[in-house]
Amino acid sequence: IANQEDTILWDSGRVCSDQSLDIPYEGRDLESRERVTWKVKYWDQDGEESPWSDPASIEMGLLSRGDWSAKWISSKAPYAEVESVRYFRKAFSLEQAPTSARVYVTSRGLFDLWINGNKIGSDYLTPGWTNYHTRLDTITYDVTAFLKRGENVIGARLAAGWYMGPMFGGAFGENVDLLAQMEISTAEDDIVIATDGSWTCSTNGPETKTRIYYGEDYDATREMPGWSTSDFDADGFDAAVATDIGSDGPNLTPKPMPTVKAMVAIDAQSLDEREKGRTIFDLGQNIAGLPELSIPCKAGQTVTVRVAEMLEADGSLYTENYRGARSQMTYIPAKDGHIKHHSFGTFFGFRYVEITGYDADHAPEVGWLRGVVLHTSFEQTGAFESSHDMLNKLQSNIQWGQRGNFIEAPTDCPQRDERMGWTGDAQVFAPVSIFNFNTHAFWASWLENLRSEEGCPDWSPSKGEWKDKPSPGWSDAMYIIPWEIYRRTGDVGILKDNYKSFLYHLDCYTAISEGNVVPEGAGYGDWLQPVKYIESSEFGCKGETPFHLINTAHFGYNALLASKCATVLGRAEDAERFAELHQAIREAASAKYLDAEGRLTTDAKTQTGYLLLLAFELVVPEKEELVAQRLSESVSEFGNRLNTGFLGTPLLSRLLDDYGYSDQACAVLFTDEYPSWFFSIDQGATTMWERWNSYTKKDGFGNAGMNSFNHYAYGAIGQFMYERLAGLAPDEQVPGYKHIMVRPLLNGHPLTHASATLETRYGAARSSWVREGGTIQLTVQVPPNTTATVVLPCTGADDVDVK
Ligand code: BGC
Repeated sequence: IANQEDTILWDSGRVCSDQSLDIPYEGRDLESRERVTWKVKYWDQDGEESPWSDPASIEMGLLSRGDWSAKWISSKAPYAEVESVRYFRKAFSLEQAPTSARVYVTSRGLFDLWINGNKIGSDYLTPGWTNYHTRLDTITYDVTAFLKRGENVIGARLAAGWYMGPMFGGAFGENVDLLAQMEISTAEDDIVIATDGSWTCSTNGPETKTRIYYGEDYDATREMPGWSTSDFDADGFDAAVATDIGSDGPNLTPKPMPTVKAMVAIDAQSLDEREKGRTIFDLGQNIAGLPELSIPCKAGQTVTVRVAEMLEADGSLYTENYRGARSQMTYIPAKDGHIKHHSFGTFFGFRYVEITGYDADHAPEVGWLRGVVLHTSFEQTGAFESSHDMLNKLQSNIQWGQRGNFIEAPTDCPQRDERMGWTGDAQVFAPVSIFNFNTHAFWASWLENLRSEEGCPDWSPSKGEWKDKPSPGWSDAMYIIPWEIYRRTGDVGILKDNYKSFLYHLDCYTAISEGNVVPEGAGYGDWLQPVKYIESSEFGCKGETPFHLINTAHFGYNALLASKCATVLGRAEDAERFAELHQAIREAASAKYLDAEGRLTTDAKTQTGYLLLLAFELVVPEKEELVAQRLSESVSEFGNRLNTGFLGTPLLSRLLDDYGYSDQACAVLFTDEYPSWFFSIDQGATTMWERWNSYTKKDGFGNAGMNSFNHYAYGAIGQFMYERLAGLAPDEQVPGYKHIMVRPLLNGHPLTHASATLETRYGAARSSWVREGGTIQLTVQVPPNTTATVVLPCTGADDVDVK
């Protein structure tokens, strides 16, 4: 590893080890602004030396408060008085063209940055969404190419974003503000242009109101052409209000994960001209992002853009499920003619777009509308496909559910007046998310938000102070997600960073437990257990499984994972203590919840009750098989279908398979009867739905109070598809796919082919099988420096032929 002066900062020398990931750098601490490069070589199993790799590089941002000379700047008018997007600018001149220039920038609110009329970077919704009172992400842009000798202007727009709410909990502050520091080097000089009282501000720009749930109102007659160029007459700009960054306040730290970007654009597939001047466009896919207009307009005639995930029976937009989110755009054109426009500082969850108020002398064309898909710009890493069209559609829906709900934080849904980082939804979907896309940094970053919450959060980011009482199945994300990410990446750092969360959460359970069970408790229960079976009950959305069972089960799981985590971290004493606690909870839970036949003692003998006890290893060994049998009976009782909510559903197929009921595990998945994944697909799902019957062809829409058509939680079934049907699974003992378990489920389902491919940190891994007549051919790809164990069913019959 060397710095820009080619000084070697660290040379590991030749190390005899098979460790090729997460090798800690042992040189001196890197400094703010420092640029380093590194390269590697290896000796293989035969001692054969490789050539050096191409060098890779990294550049440090500003690492400490003392690096900032910039001040926070804001408009004079507080947000409550003027809601329009703020425009900031600063003119300056350079005697020479720069040899290098960087802007370090963050904001409270959402910014984009402009220099000499150019938008800098291709990011959206920056600086992102964090617990703004504890952490603000800073972003570095290389702007060398945008500056010139002579007059220059730097500017920024600033919208309300997540900072101003109105998420649950309300706004973080009274106004949005910007912090930017441009550091320019020329052949002779080092120059700093930092936000301060010499910058000017206007609130008279075209975006008269832009908010996350609201959408945007845009008045093109207020546009300020060339506002970030030196030709612009900036008389209408006032001095900005500047405030010192002070010695405390939120941490200013370089953004630890990729920014949000426009990842895909989808052209409208069809249109429906409802009447002259009003047309509904269909993208054919429910997405989260921005409608991008390219339409003919008439001066003074307001264009209104409304969006929806679904259509009513009469072909009009179904918008009731957005609840309080207006989710619209309006656009007042400045003159007759064609405009291209998308909004700034907001996003929408939608498939259909209705445009009214365009120039109706033109016949609408599908080319008038594109859907720009926004999400955190991680790479797709996993693929699953099979011989089954419905299953392939399900995989597509799972991935779309992920794209729509990974905009900065893992959200429940991207469309209604919610879009929150709900912890329960996040923990059930995390394992699938890191198969489909490289979400490693995303989770590490979000977990940092979680750690900065006080108490046991239901969602994050938040500005809430949470109670020190667990929210079972939800706040458990604090330890479940680090563990799941560790299993799939081998990253011990994520365990180190979050170990205190394992312990804190366990303490919270311990404090409310009695005799190693948790007698009562609040929470969301087995959220959204299908209502069909319990319609007339008092359980509502929270399902029938008693809270105390759910709480006790998660208490046990917390102890189990704390013990495993302690083992990895070499804390033998902790590991033993928590293993003993888990054992004690197992004894107590089995005694309290299971009768001699392994049947639940609670009034409702729910599948989720059985599942939680089995999955979290809380059944005493002598009853395990019995309990699994009772679970299987319960599934039979419901016609081989699930009767589980958010907590039970992700476990059901996996656990049935674990205990030898693989035919049932598959039956639950491969049915198209309610409640099931294929049922929703039959009703038209292009993403994951909040409820199996959010819409049915027979009965129309479900209760709009809780009816999202882009809710990833039930996408958790993907884990069964990749790890069991295709058979590509990590091994907890040798994590990060350093050792791969290949164990495809070849029978009990209608598949003749299934395949999972994953770009692991070691390289591509793959398990793919095809059945042809009496022969099954399995192809396994194992990346360098890893091993795999292949387990095939021993049927005794001749239908499996191993080659
Ligand atoms: C969200 C859920 C979330 C739940 C808590 C809902 O409003 O949409 O997905 O987990 O609240 O029960």
